[in-house]
Amino acid sequence: MAEYPHVQLHIAGQWRDATGGRTIPVLNPATEEVIGTVAHCTREDMDAALAAAERGFAAWRRVSPYERAKVMRRAAELLRSRVDAIARLMTLEQGKPLAEARLEVLAGADLIEWFAEEGRRTYGQVIPARAEGIYQLTIKEPVGPVAAFTPWNFPINQVVRKLSMAVAAGCSIIVKPPEETPASPVELIKCFLEAGVPGDVISVLFGTPAEVSSYLIPHPVIRKVTFTGSTAVGKMLAALAGQHMKRVTMELGGHAPAMVFEDADVEHAAKTLAFAKFRNAGQVCVSPTRFLVQEKVYDRFVASFIAHAQAIKVGDGLAPDTQMGPMANERRIPVMEAMVADARQKGGEVATGGSRIGNKGYFFAPTVITGAHAGMRGMNEEPFGPIAFMRPFKDLEEVLAEANRLPYGLASYAFTTSARTAQKLAAGVEVGMMTINHLGLALPEVPFGGVRDSGYGTEGGSEAIEAYLNTKFVTQLGL
Ligand code: NAD
Repeated sequence: MAEYPHVQLHIAGQWRDATGGRTIPVLNPATEEVIGTVAHCTREDMDAALAAAERGFAAWRRVSPYERAKVMRRAAELLRSRVDAIARLMTLEQGKPLAEARLEVLAGADLIEWFAEEGRRTYGQVIPARAEGIYQLTIKEPVGPVAAFTPWNFPINQVVRKLSMAVAAGCSIIVKPPEETPASPVELIKCFLEAGVPGDVISVLFGTPAEVSSYLIPHPVIRKVTFTGSTAVGKMLAALAGQHMKRVTMELGGHAPAMVFEDADVEHAAKTLAFAKFRNAGQVCVSPTRFLVQEKVYDRFVASFIAHAQAIKVGDGLAPDTQMGPMANERRIPVMEAMVADARQKGGEVATGGSRIGNKGYFFAPTVITGAHAGMRGMNEEPFGPIAFMRPFKDLEEVLAEANRLPYGLASYAFTTSARTAQKLAAGVEVGMMTINHLGLALPEVPFGGVRDSGYGTEGGSEAIEAYLNTKFVTQLGL
């Protein structure tokens, strides 16, 4: 593999350039250098991918779940065997530390294996009939060709869930991975193809996201749409899918509350939450953002959290001692600066960080704002970057009101040794996921998804594959 490849489209079993040869540059966010190019598809390329998806679905749905699972397990093995090379590509294009990129690749292999086996458990039912001689059955069938749109923060993780569920269920899929980080998801897809998934089953398109989604979603070949990205874009795509009556899964933004109670192990909470906040430079949909700390332990928690933030080694993800890389793209820097300026202007204190580091690469310092309140921009809008907002609270009632104040409902974090408090939080916070006293989200076998403006549907656990299946009812009178 060259240091960074020219990334192509995959259509009808061929890796190839776009018709007409248009390309988009790919940058390394740590150096701002152009490291490669990715093909930019045309309408003709999209039509060819749609035709392939139709053929691919007709063939793949007939392959048994047992055989599909065997192919997928081979794909997982291939992915594991290539972990070092793929992680390096991911760090070059996305910026995250090599160790995080390696974990993402390995977690991808675990996800493939989980969904390979889930495909073998897509059980229907036999429903007791009201009269003798009647058999009532439900059969699970693949929903059909899928259009999947994924973002740049986890170039493999965001694709692998969608791809694995579709392939395990017997669907074909057209993936539009992110143009900013195209090489690592393409290496993942190569593992599926080399393992034996037929070329028509998986297509890969890159281009202008809005052009691709506005063409694919209404197209009659596409039966399901799945998107991970911002709430604003998700609402647009879900509306379009709704107009054309397509099945939809939406994995959107979040604004996670992290609630620390006075009975918690405060040091453990600070260390664990600082790790969660600054992982992937905060560009994580489940990243904790609103740090709500009970008054009695507020100062102690904040001091410890700041010490952890200041100890983080920020640098090029390829350097072995780097713990936090740059932001993945230039447009995030002015957003961070504006959020910090807004917080300062509204009475917050920038306890550490608050600005860009250097003038080469999109590095932004781990930042802690104290004295945060609901009037600040960053307390309402997803920062999607390395900024933590600290705010004290009095009691359970107050913290529940703050946790539920925003329309987001993805992840939440809590630290308490009281079983009663933990129960009240689990019942009272309107979110898709809550992790108490540790970081336990996003494993293959547990649900992953949000409610309200954070979207709908789950991309993990035993319910996830349902989103790629239709339930057909058959009733028969034996004659
Ligand atoms: P953005 O809203 O422009 O794009 C988000 C993602 O959606 C990107 O991958 C982009 O390629 C894609 N996209 C944008 N318009 C599209 C369209 N019309 N059709 C199909 N795909 C489209 O924002 P951005 O600057 O790339 O990222 C910043 C924001 O996006 C963050 O604030 C965060 O809220 C959100 N985001 C969320 C996740 C997540 O994991 N849920 C991941 C990345 C970005």
